Amino acid sequence: MIDIHSHWIKYPGHVTDAFVEEASIARGRPVDLNILPEDYLKAMEPVEKCVVFGMKACLSGFYTPNEDIAAFASYAPEKIVPFMSVDPTEGDFLDDFDHAYHDLNLRGLKLAPMYAGFDPNDRRLDALYARCQKLGVPILYHMGTTFVRMAPLKYSRPFLIDEVARRFPELRIVIAHLGHPWEGETLVVIRKHPHVWADIAAIYYRPWQFYNSMILAQEYGVTGKILFGSDYPFSTPAESAQGIRAINRMVEGTNLPRIREESIEAIIERDGLKSLGLR
Ligand SMILES: [Zn+2]
Repeated sequence: MIDIHSHWIKYPGHVTDAFVEEASIARGRPVDLNILPEDYLKAMEPVEKCVVFGMKACLSGFYTPNEDIAAFASYAPEKIVPFMSVDPTEGDFLDDFDHAYHDLNLRGLKLAPMYAGFDPNDRRLDALYARCQKLGVPILYHMGTTFVRMAPLKYSRPFLIDEVARRFPELRIVIAHLGHPWEGETLVVIRKHPHVWADIAAIYYRPWQFYNSMILAQEYGVTGKILFGSDYPFSTPAESAQGIRAINRMVEGTNLPRIREESIEAIIERDGLKSLGLR
């Protein structure tokens, strides 16, 4: 297994108290957002490689220095694939990118339009996209919903990525979380763009929505564009694989269609790093 979507967060440090409070209210219990390297590595035992990122989104009280994520990867350099993050609302975000790429050797980029409060099609980002396309740096966008009150949902609609991909057709892109709850938008975007993918992280624990999304993916013939990710620490790779494999359980004994077992296994076994040109 390749885990294309995992988080590392240091608290206190990378997130504000207000962010942790909102996360805890959303979950209905106190959320521990301080992830210890040993816990992370234990959870990642079943995977061959794992993409890990923080997030830079000043608007939402989230800020992971790229130095920190590069240092975290040194706990298991043969396994952890660290992605940088930049916040395009910061004036020096291109310098931030250059530093992370050239000095810290970070080869992927996490962007969070809703959490940071920017439109993915804001022309100020064109220079960033051009650099990523030229250097072969894939971009993983957090698209879809959130519990953060001040994060604008309008910047999180998956169809916004269509325009990015039309303008930068060689750019490798992942739409995270299948863009939930707008999975339909995500599926039509990944269907038409060869280099746009989606990850399945954190979708299985809303089983009815997950099932319907996968039926739609099957009907559009795009299950081959879906990559495996866990969204650790919110779920481990083992829990995610188990949850994904359980998808047909709720339709047992009914005439409802099933998700093909071979499509499910292919998602779990797909080499997302290869899809993104990182091998
Ligand atoms: Zn995530």
